[in-house]
Amino acid sequence: MSLHLRYAAISDRGVVRQGNQDSVFAGAHFIAVADGMGGMAAGDLASAIVINTVARLDVPPPADSVVDELADAVADANRAIRRCVADDPQKEGMGTTLTALWFDGEWFNLVHIGDSRAYRMREGAFEQITVDDTYVQMLVDEGRITAEEAERHPQRSLLLRALGASEVEPAFQTIKGVPGDRLLLCSDGLSGPVSDADIARTLQGAATPQEAAETLVQQALDAGAPDNVTVLVADVIADDPGEQRQLIGGAAADARLAESDTAVLRAVKEAEEPKADAEAETEEVQPKARKQGRVWRTILACLIVLTLAAGGGMWWVRTQYFIGVSDAGNISVYRGLPFEVAGYRVAWVEVDSGRAAEDAVDDVETELESGIRADGIEDAESRLGELVDPAPTNANLDPLCSSADTGADSVPAAASDCRED
Ligand code: MG
Repeated sequence: MSLHLRYAAISDRGVVRQGNQDSVFAGAHFIAVADGMGGMAAGDLASAIVINTVARLDVPPPADSVVDELADAVADANRAIRRCVADDPQKEGMGTTLTALWFDGEWFNLVHIGDSRAYRMREGAFEQITVDDTYVQMLVDEGRITAEEAERHPQRSLLLRALGASEVEPAFQTIKGVPGDRLLLCSDGLSGPVSDADIARTLQGAATPQEAAETLVQQALDAGAPDNVTVLVADVIADDPGEQRQLIGGAAADARLAESDTAVLRAVKEAEEPKADAEAETEEVQPKARKQGRVWRTILACLIVLTLAAGGGMWWVRTQYFIGVSDAGNISVYRGLPFEVAGYRVAWVEVDSGRAAEDAVDDVETELESGIRADGIEDAESRLGELVDPAPTNANLDPLCSSADTGADSVPAAASDCRED
């Protein structure tokens, strides 16, 4: 049995923001939400480029290569953003989330990157079917905070992955559609101010996707709508709903962007050009991008962190410490985050011990590679002292090479298993 979608979508600027950086697309086969970021650096462009690029998937998906084609479309969209930035370095730092579903009449093929969300209501059971690419979600996964604490965490908007970075790793999954399912795609402008319980109640109670979408947007507005609000509701139905027009909203529908801004049109068009051309052009733009070098990388990292962490983010990042391995290979105290933010490192060496990380025992070396978190600089320095203490009894370090060489019957330790002092 081939199923169908009946859908409605609304993108609202919200109460506080000057413009709308979200974009949305809905068609019979493809639905998507993107939330642009990078205020001065044109988050509206990023989400518009991505939505206008992936909207080509609103056709019945191929049976044998659906995931490849979905991945190609996302890669094209990312390339289009990067190309746009290479043409205009002032747009450096722009990026976007993307949560999209490609429907074949039975299965949904989902691609997701960032903190926009997909939810499903099935027979009264409400479920979030995407996992946020956020710092707080990582803390939840590690068992360091609860899901309830994550909802109130001051850094809940800090993204770990987004389109626009040099390397992107979207998540893919397939979900079987069942008649009666009601799906919701939304930006964090809904899921932030409106609780899951309220979203679930609205999805359950609304008679139509249009009613659900209007009610959800109103709930976000009533809650102060500090961010752009984008909502797409799609019902899985057995009967053919007849002709439904494609919907496009938010920045992607902005006349200035969709019709007048050649940057979007050109980026989208070039993203659809044959691969050989695309690769040749990538070769061309790389040296230009390299020229911007470290300066824009720093700006990008700061922009993302600042934009997404609601003001206090950079200050907060600078209060974080961990012990890791410096570029020179030494055990060092870092200020910042022990992971990349949207593909960029946001950490600076504060203290370099001069002790090579390869002198540490294997377990400690592994921990250092992923970063050992510390509670402030004093704790970090204290733990660094323990780690690099030259005493022969320091269990964090390999034994001294000389101690293994005493006695005629002793076996000299391999060079990699002992340390010189
Ligand atoms: Mg948002």
